[in-house]
Amino acid sequence: MSARIETAVGLDVGRIREDFPALRQTVHGHPLVYLDNAATSQKPRAVLDAIMRFYERDCANVHRGVHQLSERSTAAYEGARETVRQFLNAAAPAEIVYTRGATESINLVAQTYGRANLRAGDEIVVSGLEHHSNIVPWQMLAAEKGAILRVAPIDDRGEIVPEEYRKMLGPRTRIVALAQVSNALGTINPVREMIAQAHAAGAVALIDGAQAAPHMPVDVQDLDCDFYAFSGHKAFGPTGIGVLFGKASLLDAMPPWQGGGDMIRSVTFEKTTFNDPPYKFEAGTPHIAGAIGLGAAIDYVTTIGLDRVAAWEHELLVYGTEALERVPGLRLIGTARRKAAVLSFVLEGVHPHDIATILDGQGIAIRAGHHCAQPIMERFGLTATSRASLAFYNTYREIDALVEGLGKVREIFE
Ligand code: PLP
Repeated sequence: MSARIETAVGLDVGRIREDFPALRQTVHGHPLVYLDNAATSQKPRAVLDAIMRFYERDCANVHRGVHQLSERSTAAYEGARETVRQFLNAAAPAEIVYTRGATESINLVAQTYGRANLRAGDEIVVSGLEHHSNIVPWQMLAAEKGAILRVAPIDDRGEIVPEEYRKMLGPRTRIVALAQVSNALGTINPVREMIAQAHAAGAVALIDGAQAAPHMPVDVQDLDCDFYAFSGHKAFGPTGIGVLFGKASLLDAMPPWQGGGDMIRSVTFEKTTFNDPPYKFEAGTPHIAGAIGLGAAIDYVTTIGLDRVAAWEHELLVYGTEALERVPGLRLIGTARRKAAVLSFVLEGVHPHDIATILDGQGIAIRAGHHCAQPIMERFGLTATSRASLAFYNTYREIDALVEGLGKVREIFE
């Protein structure tokens, strides 16, 4: 495919790829074709430089020192929070809590908001396509509280059945927790409407944005979600850093989770008073370099523009869907009408792990397994799929390489 086509939505993908050192390597003697972005994304030079700059020049603890280095690191750490606020269009930086990732963000809500507000017999609604990290924390909470976990079913395309979801909402629903985008199928859920329906039933809504925030514009005020979770490492930032957005009124009223430094206002052996959000939820020395790296990643993708990212990834999805549909014996799993650039598939007579291993031999990185979403695999009568998941630095040529690679897989198994 020509470079001209790869700038069809105004993105110079060839130029962008130069910003990602990891994309330049060869694997098993082949140029790396990295199609495992739903698991984690590669990092642009700007992120690596920001982390390096912090450790080389500004390394000091935050919020505690009056010295120059601490002032610099605090400014960079809090500056990144403001960058995240703008990225999500949250109303205030106090609504942005740093966590280790989407998983910790969801656990934080379950363990603070959930523990404080749920009673026996209350209901938590999730959908059948959730990642384990948006299932297990709620199961744990339900077990502790005697609450009930209800699961909105998924149709054959991989979409949540809207009328079944609506029927599930009732006077006992306290929390609705939904993925904006499914990591296993790519389904984009109509979360704006679903949040409004949750609110109408009197529930709060948490959106798991792990697969959405890196790939499309997100506006938490427009969505009107109560909580929004995502991970830095899937958004071109470092591992070990993530975000929980929470509406200020909810974060204010929630009890803290972990105790320690920074989350307190004063401590005596008789009584401790807690700091305001977001610090109330950030006990101990935070992942300062991670937050700074995340800020740099967001600056990077924002400069490209999330609209253009989404448009290009959609082009790749359409191209990839058509190309994979032509592979004999291949069945796509997840054919929702609104999809992100995730291509999950099975190939007749070949185990997904064998596919991934053979492709790796050709330098092509995809994922095989249950994708930490066993219930949705079971819904399709499967234990595993192969999954190619795309990012804005992927190209038509890489999809061609995937299809050629699958041809070789078929030759081996014929
Ligand atoms: N939610 C979804 C939809 C995901 O795809 C993932 C990771 O794959 C997570 C949550 C958990 O993210 P992390 O492991 O970064 O906490």
